[in-house]
Amino acid sequence: MSNPSLLILPGDGIGPEVMTQVRRIIDWYGTNRGLSFDVSEDLVGGAAYDAHGTPLHDDTMAKAQDADAVLLGAVGGPKYDELDFSVKPERGLLRLRKEMDLYANLRPAQCFDALADFSSLKTEVVAGLDIVIVRELTSGIYFGEPRGIIEEGNERVGINTQRYTESEIDRVARSAFELAMRRNKKLCSMEKANVMESGVLWREVVTEVGKDYPEVELSHMYADAGAMQLCRWPKQFDVIVTDNLFGDMLSDAAAMLTGSLGMLPSASLGAPMANGRPKALYEPVHGSAPDIAGQGKANPIACILSFAMALRYSFDSGEEADRLEAAIEQVLADGARTADLLGEDGVEPISTSEMGDAVLAALDASL
Ligand code: NAD
Repeated sequence: MSNPSLLILPGDGIGPEVMTQVRRIIDWYGTNRGLSFDVSEDLVGGAAYDAHGTPLHDDTMAKAQDADAVLLGAVGGPKYDELDFSVKPERGLLRLRKEMDLYANLRPAQCFDALADFSSLKTEVVAGLDIVIVRELTSGIYFGEPRGIIEEGNERVGINTQRYTESEIDRVARSAFELAMRRNKKLCSMEKANVMESGVLWREVVTEVGKDYPEVELSHMYADAGAMQLCRWPKQFDVIVTDNLFGDMLSDAAAMLTGSLGMLPSASLGAPMANGRPKALYEPVHGSAPDIAGQGKANPIACILSFAMALRYSFDSGEEADRLEAAIEQVLADGARTADLLGEDGVEPISTSEMGDAVLAALDASL
């Protein structure tokens, strides 16, 4: 049987630097765990614009459609700020998400014990935290029609429309239930059924889908109460599913529970392909960090954790994902810190590649 295919798109700024470390880890799995991938690499964002005059070449788009998973670094940078909107680096990423129809955005908020002090919340509130927010990514108020700014009488009116079909709610709910089944079998759905009809429908459809997952304990919460509970006691949650707008806010708030942007992975999943794997794009939450690009200061962990998510959700290798996450936990517990993870205690920062070295050494030790 042929190896699963992985398309790597390093992108711009620190994207290529952090991806170099991920490539070393991918090679480690091939050598030590018999887990090999057909890896190909291509351009996205500003790098693609420089080479082809477009932030995503059609050939690259076709490769992404065919790949078992896509792993992306980051796009953008000041060099491209003046470009026309249609060819800005971010358009490359948006085209990938849209044409692959990636409707379920998974944002884990996982707090490594060694970094619990980094959170703005009390250590006991965040230590050991491990939750995932599933945000609907392709519909809702960011896409609904009618939209625009119109003249009404003697003033202007801004309009956006929250719109969800049953099938759009059904498919993202299924992604969230499937995820809960692989985890602690608890799902909390968040909407505003008290004031929004789209929320009433959301609650009804999620409840209906829940009948197919009797093992999962389903609860519902109004999104505003959910925001409060996320800050009060986030460990009460396992998986949260919510719409595009609420998910945008709740996932950013949850991300900050855990400290640094350099630690946060994400996955965007679509419908299952013929081989049963979902369409999938994995990427760190951070951007191209032009302020530190090229200096060997970037933290590669968010990108490495994105690869761990690919192992878990695209390649049925949950145990190997656990191994990689445990290696990172160990490295942090041993005190390894890139500059973004430094506190007040006078620890010397290590470089991007030294962090890669440390993770590889911890993986070796895990054998
Ligand atoms: P950013 O995430 O690139 O950087 C914000 C801050 O966090 C910076 O100080 C940066 O140095 C730091 N940082 C980010 N990732 C880090 C890492 N791995 N290690 C250490 N420090 C890290 O956000 P920004 O500055 O608002 O945007 C910069 C560029 O990235 C812009 O062009 C923006 O459009 C683009 N961007 C791209 C994505 C993406 O590719 N998904 C996401 C956000 C922003």
